[in-house]
Amino acid sequence: MAVRLYNTLSRRVEDFQPLKQGRVTMYTCGPTVYDTAHVGNFRTFLFEDILRRFLRWKGYEVVQVRNLTDVDDRTIHAAVAKGVSLRELTDPFIDAFFSDHDRLGLERAEHYPRATDYVPQMVKLVEQLVERGLAYEADGSVYFDISEFPSYGELAQLDRASLREGRETGDAAYDREDARDFVLWKGGERPEEGDVATWDSPWGSGRPGWHLECSVMATEHLGQPFDIHSGGVDLIFPHHTNEIAQAEGATGEPFARFWLHAKHALLDGRKMSKSENHYYTVDDLVGKGYRASAIRRLLISGHYRAELNFTLAGLDDAARSVERLVELRRRLTASRSDQPGLPPTRLPELAARALEAFEAALDDDLNIAEGWGALFVLVREANGELDGAGERVPAADADTALDALASIDSVFGVLALAEREEVAVPEALRAWIEDRLAERAMARTERDYARADAIRGELAERGIEVEDTPSGSRWRLAR
Ligand SMILES: [Zn+2]
Repeated sequence: MAVRLYNTLSRRVEDFQPLKQGRVTMYTCGPTVYDTAHVGNFRTFLFEDILRRFLRWKGYEVVQVRNLTDVDDRTIHAAVAKGVSLRELTDPFIDAFFSDHDRLGLERAEHYPRATDYVPQMVKLVEQLVERGLAYEADGSVYFDISEFPSYGELAQLDRASLREGRETGDAAYDREDARDFVLWKGGERPEEGDVATWDSPWGSGRPGWHLECSVMATEHLGQPFDIHSGGVDLIFPHHTNEIAQAEGATGEPFARFWLHAKHALLDGRKMSKSENHYYTVDDLVGKGYRASAIRRLLISGHYRAELNFTLAGLDDAARSVERLVELRRRLTASRSDQPGLPPTRLPELAARALEAFEAALDDDLNIAEGWGALFVLVREANGELDGAGERVPAADADTALDALASIDSVFGVLALAEREEVAVPEALRAWIEDRLAERAMARTERDYARADAIRGELAERGIEVEDTPSGSRWRLAR
């Protein structure tokens, strides 16, 4: 089945097909690196991670760009306040972003362009807009003339009557009732900005507007048009609206085909916000003893188009939910037996059904809540099978269930994180495990499967999973 996605452009769920067969291009607006991201920011980044992983699961190659906004009003003001250069300000926040990114198990995108590396291309785009009569200079700055671009505001469904004459005053915040000509290139006198961000241009020294940066970084890496552009709902207007005007205005070509927007994470029912000091960072939560796997589990628990309420009680539930997955995997591994003549189980049928339901759910505009539902039906019923079989099932049956778990987790990514969080193994325990494994290998050579299974059970009791591979047995600590 085809993937179906809700396209903000049409306000409908549409069948998704990439422009180029088998290859999806996507641009995901990245962090503004003037501060540490909070877990609410990561809610959007994780929705994009699920989108990326599921498209890969469906067999597509994915080319993803996530930009790093290292020049805009906020980065400049923060650099001026601290008396440092833009790079000195943003480098540590970029490092912090990647640290949280990796801790939460996000797959790396193919490209992470920094806005400050693309200023010449931005100047070129502004020149094209001026040539086409869509932009004009005023007081050393250049503005986009929205009255000259008839489809301005379609993404945000702006009423043409709401468009105002004249220019915006800052490039940070204005609302849809006050859509005005927006800044492409900010020049002229900018005493409050010091000299932290200044480049030469045909209009004198200045620096790019925030919206311009994304239009350029997207098309530089993905061409135009590309398949998917995404971000949080707050970006629909003005940011994404203006990205479209710039890229389409300059070339006459469509910009992005599908626009996907995630709703916000609330904290205890109220919008997470740095300015109101109402948020958690990953560090805050890890400091309280929570695991990244549980944070990830909670942040990807609900549909991306619904608000998500983040609470510490929810985080406790998420941790238990991850534990149930780890436990099922441990049981399946420990129950895997090579003994001939064991009665068949329903595990292969349950695994196939779970995979089918998972795919149907995610195909339907990434209905992740239903996807989790399918996975936990498997958890419940597979545990029932293991109870009924006295913890000993044909290896091939256990493997189909383990494969289904691994396949679904290649999208959800929580088991893989839980695995990384396992504690280091003390040397004495390691020696004991190796000793038991050697004895089990001997039992298997002698076809004494009952003995081999007993040793596997003994290891499982201490939380050690054994995996048999063509090159011998491997073990890992499951808890
Ligand atoms: Zn952007």
